[in-house]
Amino acid sequence: MSIASTQPINTGTPAETVNLHFNQLGLAEPILRAIIDAGYTTPTPIQAKAIPVVLNGGDLLAGAQTGTGKTAGFTLPLLHLLHSKPKQNKAGQPRCLMLTPTRELAAQIEESVKTYGKYLNLKSMVVFGGVNINPQINRLSKPIDILVATPGRLLDLANQRKVDLSAVEFLVLDEADRMLDMGFIRDIKKLLAMLPKQRQNLLFSATFSDEIKTLADGLLHKPGFIEVARRNTASEMVEQTVHLVKQAHKASLMSYLIKTNNWQQVLVFTRTKHGANRLAEKLIKDGIPAAAIHGNKSQGARTRALAEFKNGDIPVLVATDIAARGLDIDQLPQVVNFELPNVPEDYVHRIGRTGRAGSSGAAISLVDFEEAKYLKDIEKLIKREIPKVAVEGFQAPTHIEPEAPRGPRNQPPRNKPAGNKQPKANQANGQKPAQAKKPAQQKPFQNMSQPNGNKPAHHSGNRGR
Ligand code: AMP
Repeated sequence: MSIASTQPINTGTPAETVNLHFNQLGLAEPILRAIIDAGYTTPTPIQAKAIPVVLNGGDLLAGAQTGTGKTAGFTLPLLHLLHSKPKQNKAGQPRCLMLTPTRELAAQIEESVKTYGKYLNLKSMVVFGGVNINPQINRLSKPIDILVATPGRLLDLANQRKVDLSAVEFLVLDEADRMLDMGFIRDIKKLLAMLPKQRQNLLFSATFSDEIKTLADGLLHKPGFIEVARRNTASEMVEQTVHLVKQAHKASLMSYLIKTNNWQQVLVFTRTKHGANRLAEKLIKDGIPAAAIHGNKSQGARTRALAEFKNGDIPVLVATDIAARGLDIDQLPQVVNFELPNVPEDYVHRIGRTGRAGSSGAAISLVDFEEAKYLKDIEKLIKREIPKVAVEGFQAPTHIEPEAPRGPRNQPPRNKPAGNKQPKANQANGQKPAQAKKPAQQKPFQNMSQPNGNKPAHHSGNRGR
């Protein structure tokens, strides 16, 4: 199989649907009924392409990221195949195994299985780490058709002989690139060795590194290859802005932005778990309800925070990349990169949280001088320059100590930030940047001090840490 020589057959945007109806795909009637209940009218490109391949019994290699509708792309045809070739299900012996990198993603996939399979007589369950294993062991003692799992916990259960993978007919590796990034390759290989040789394999990945190609070559037999919404096209749907700001001033700017723009639902990315906690605490201190979600939090705390964020009780969720991976929050209006990720693809993943399912979204990045290189790499990847917009009226809190001078040249006097020379900041945030054209834009890294605006609109947001 050669990925390089295969042409992508569709590069549509994630929300794009195709001129085809679900009932033309050959899916069983109870599945179509569930699709109607879910409110879908037409398949997304990945669904239109993947469903026939899977229904035909072929292996599949699919390039698609979260937000394209890929979960239904593999779940719907697999439900059909399981339903149309019924077998007596057995305790702890799934016929279908779906592997995915994170707990949240696993839970969401299983929720989709239940949603689309609600009129079928198929049993599903999900297993992931970070929670008590005993209820999972109990559940595995009952008949099961579909098992959704993260690799580590599944291997643990398999080693304890609580699950038997020898009857797996269908295997899905979802977000395979992320599973490899997270170091799951050894676990995956051990799990693959437990599966029967004869089975249908589907591999979904947003990128195709050499490692993924090797995995796919070893796993898939003459796969159909489809690709939709390549990573760097997701960025075209989202309105993006950069605010150049010192790291030490970011938390205050964050409070300010939330308050002045009256954001009701914003997902904020930090690079570290500690940073996520610190920012959430600072926002709460500023009177903004916020929660942090990351790998050190218990599963209960993560689920609760996500539920509160989704239902609007908490307007701000601060997350690390791994925790946020796969969160399915429809029509999220606003994403903020509190720090830029050092892997440019993660930027595209992050902003892909917004502008989903046809809604427009906005992504703001707070960029310190030290992140200049990351910004360049990101702009190279997405093949566009992100408008640099200064925050009107934002003023450095007087009690924040200026940072030690970074560069030797043209050092401004301590009480006169370099930003003074800059013409008046161009516009408030959250709106369309003024055409992203030259004069209104802030020049990258020539003006790293905060804009010396006149009157901050909300002083409360500008308190120091
Ligand atoms: P996914 O890429 O699988 O995470 O799906 C992204 C979102 O799209 C989920 O909220 C799905 O419920 C939704 N979705 C999936 N398929 C369709 C469809 N055919 N029409 C509209 N929305 C869909």
